[in-house]
Amino acid sequence: MKVPFLDLKLVNDVTKSEMSTAFNRVIESGWYIQGKELEAFESEFSAYCKTEYCIGVGTGLDAIHLLLVAYGIGPGDEVIVPSNTFIATWLAVSRTGATPVAVEPDLQTYNISAESIEAAITPSTAAIIPVHLYGQPADMGAINTIAKKYKLLVIEDAAQSQGALYRGQPTGGLGHSAATSFYPGKNLGALGDGGAILTNDSSIAKKVRELRNYGSPLKYQHDSLGYNSRLDEIQAAFLRVKLNVLDAANGSRKQIAQRYTEGLKGSNIITPFVPEWANPVWHLYVIRTADRDQLQKYLKENGIETLVHYPIPPHQQKCYTNEVTHTLPIAEKLATEVLSLPISPSMPMEHVDYVIDRILNFK
Ligand SMILES: *Cc1c(COP(=O)(O)O)cnc(C)c1O
Repeated sequence: MKVPFLDLKLVNDVTKSEMSTAFNRVIESGWYIQGKELEAFESEFSAYCKTEYCIGVGTGLDAIHLLLVAYGIGPGDEVIVPSNTFIATWLAVSRTGATPVAVEPDLQTYNISAESIEAAITPSTAAIIPVHLYGQPADMGAINTIAKKYKLLVIEDAAQSQGALYRGQPTGGLGHSAATSFYPGKNLGALGDGGAILTNDSSIAKKVRELRNYGSPLKYQHDSLGYNSRLDEIQAAFLRVKLNVLDAANGSRKQIAQRYTEGLKGSNIITPFVPEWANPVWHLYVIRTADRDQLQKYLKENGIETLVHYPIPPHQQKCYTNEVTHTLPIAEKLATEVLSLPISPSMPMEHVDYVIDRILNFK
C-alpha cells in the first residue's frame, strides 16, 4: 500500500466544481485585485473567527509582519516567539528590525510554555507571538494573564489552527490580533499563497489595509511607507468555497486523529496530548519516539510517507546562528524525536489502519 503524507489533489477534488464556478465568475468579472470576492471572504472569515475585522494579505509571513509594523514594533524591541515553530514566526519579527526571543515549549503540548514566558520578559519586550502549533490551541488564558501583567501585546500565529477552539472560542480572536496563512497545505488552504490578519481593533485594521496596499488609504494618496501584499480575487473566491467545507474537513481530521490515538495505545509511541480546554483541528498528527529516524525509514520502506515538523529549530538555522548562541534543549530534543503521520480530510481509513498496523509491527 502507498500512503502519501498529504494528497492535495484529492483534498481539492471535493470542491472542484464549486471552485471552477468561482474561477469563471472571477474571470468574467474583469476585476482581479481588491474587489468583491476579497470583501466577501473577509466578512465571511471574520464571522467564522468571531472577530470584527479580517484583512486579506499576500502570505502568512506578511500577515505577521504587517501586524507588527502596524503596532509600531521595530529595532530595539524584543518579541517572544516559540523555539519550536516554523521559521516564518521568527522571520516576521526579524524583518521589522526587532529581535525574536525564543521561549521553550511545554513538553506535553509542544506549545509555548506560559510559565517560561515570564522569565524571558525584559524592559524591551513588546509582544508575545504564541503559535497554535499543529492545530492545537496554545494556553491563551495563561498567556493573556502574563501579557496583561507586563502590558505586552499578544499576536496569535494561527496559521495552523483554522477552526481550532480554546475554551469554545475560535483561535484567531483570542489575543490583541492574529495572523493566519492560506498556503495550500493549511487546513484552510488556497490554490496558491495567501494570508490574513484578524483583529477587533479598528485602527489596526485600517493601518493594515493601508500597509498591504502601498500605504494608501485612498488611490494615489500614500500616508505610510507601505508594501504590496494583497489576497487576489481568485484566491479569495476559492477560499470562500473552502471555508464552507472547513468544519467538515476538520471533522474528518479529528476522526483520523482519534483512530491513530486509539490504535497506538499501549505502544511505546508518545501520541498527542489534548488539554481538556482544547478543541484542536489536527493540522498535523505528531508522534514522538527516541527511535524517530529508524521508524521513519521503516515506514518509508512500507510505502508510508511521513514528515518532520521541524527537523532544524530556527535558532540552529544558518540565518540565526550569529544571533542566538545559547542552546534551547527542548526544541533541540523535539527536532530529533517528532514525526508527523499522514493526515488529511480525504485520507481513507484503510490508510490510517495500515499506518497503525505498520507502527505496531515496528522492530
Ligand atoms: C505556514 C506558516 C506560516 C507562514 O505562512 P505562509 O503563508 O507560508 O507565509 C507562519 N507560521 C506558521 C506557524 C506556519 O505554519
